Amino acid sequence: MQLNWLPKVDKLMLLVKEQLPDDLSEPLLAEAAREAVDQLREEARGGGFNPPSKEIVLNLCLALTKCLYHRKQTPSLRRVINATGIVLHTNLGRAPMARAAADAIAEVAHGYSNLELDLDTGKRASRYDHVRDLLCRLTGAEDALVVNNNAAAVLLALDTLASGGEAIVSRGELVEIGGSFRIPDILEKTGVTLREVGCTNKTHLDDYRAAITDKTKLLLKVHPSNFAQVGFVEEVDLETLVALGRESETPVLYDLGSGCLYSLAEEGVGGEPMVPRVLASGVDVVCFSGDKLLGGPQAGIILGRRAYIEEMKQNHLTRALRIDKFTLAALEATLRLYVDPQKARQEIPTLEMILAPPEILRTRAEALAAIINQSGHLCRAEVRPGKSEVGGGSLPGLELDTSLVYVQTEENSAEELVSTLRTLAPPILAYIRDNHVILDPRTLQDGEEQQVAAQIIHLCRGAQCAPAPPVSTDLPVGDDAHIVPPIPNVPTTPGETP
Ligand SMILES: *Cc1c(COP(=O)(O)O)cnc(C)c1O
Repeated sequence: MQLNWLPKVDKLMLLVKEQLPDDLSEPLLAEAAREAVDQLREEARGGGFNPPSKEIVLNLCLALTKCLYHRKQTPSLRRVINATGIVLHTNLGRAPMARAAADAIAEVAHGYSNLELDLDTGKRASRYDHVRDLLCRLTGAEDALVVNNNAAAVLLALDTLASGGEAIVSRGELVEIGGSFRIPDILEKTGVTLREVGCTNKTHLDDYRAAITDKTKLLLKVHPSNFAQVGFVEEVDLETLVALGRESETPVLYDLGSGCLYSLAEEGVGGEPMVPRVLASGVDVVCFSGDKLLGGPQAGIILGRRAYIEEMKQNHLTRALRIDKFTLAALEATLRLYVDPQKARQEIPTLEMILAPPEILRTRAEALAAIINQSGHLCRAEVRPGKSEVGGGSLPGLELDTSLVYVQTEENSAEELVSTLRTLAPPILAYIRDNHVILDPRTLQDGEEQQVAAQIIHLCRGAQCAPAPPVSTDLPVGDDAHIVPPIPNVPTTPGETP
């Protein structure tokens, strides 16, 4: 290829602009055009690239520039469709929030807010006050504090309650939560000496009792969260531990992990005790996540005795771990829904998804499969009974009955289909089992079934989303050509923003 067939970058930009929306980003387009030309030049110099004419080179530059521009312009963090059925998927942002919570964020995001102002007195107030009363009302706690996430809550509680002393923990509870949050490491970071007691599978009250010395500052209990032990297992229940704490005048901290404010167990889902019941045991401090079973924003919620909460508020670490206004807005809106449990159940997606009735899931799976099957013979969908999990270190080992759509195509292997689904806009996340692509309707939200069906059909028809350059040699393209040969648009897929 002759290198002088490559267009000038500014000319290329002008041509591409005619085909892109008016509000495009000039700097990104310039970058894309430069990279496109550079890329083709490199390939031409390498010798393996020999387009037969100048106009084809121009076409290639145009298509490549548009493609690179779209890629640059797509945000890195974006919405995806979760068809895995895992409700609290850590890699997919854990809890999807209620509409009211999302609206509350929007409400405080663009303008100012009374984040640290008492509107009655005009005086400075604490940001923590926005949710304290609600949390106390919903849980029966004496006082409450919220921080950035539960890892921060554990860090703050340990640093405040036990720094410079010893914390006693059962060997069965020295867990790693994920994202390398390990209880022993956190203890070390806060200058708390870990006193392990018991064995992996069994810890008795006497193990704790024997470990108490004048250095002991805390009895720590940790929810195992992402694993469950079966068989020859014994732990000291919370009431007994609390009694020992009283007897030895040692505070008891319970890292609850998920923290449940809705009676899932009463509806037959798992055996997670509700937070009010945990507090009723007399435990001094509990902490848990805002975006696990609670179904709100990422946050760490700390509840318990006023004296301890007050001490934590005075701890300088609190400033570094503090919660932001968006989180507070979303958390307050989420907690408000819990004031009426029925409302919480209907409007908090996490609860709604966990409690979705199996017969509704079957109907939805069948509808999804029917759309896929009606569209031709290239892909087949079949509904089979299956299980979904809650995920996110909540309700470990629990399997929820669901109906799964098994998809198979003639064009693509399951691996190809799953990875292509991930590249769409919005990306669709599914998984593979028995050489089929599996879609679980449990985690699909409003209208997403239609999008998923449309994309599957589109891909089954063999349509690919890569930009294919046109081959058109009979159009005159001179140096000053104002007529650009028609470039087929980068094929888009239904529901995709190109
Ligand atoms: C999830 C979890 C944490 C960490 O909470 P984040 O909100 O993810 O920071 C800490 N402890 C336990 C027991 C957990 O389950």
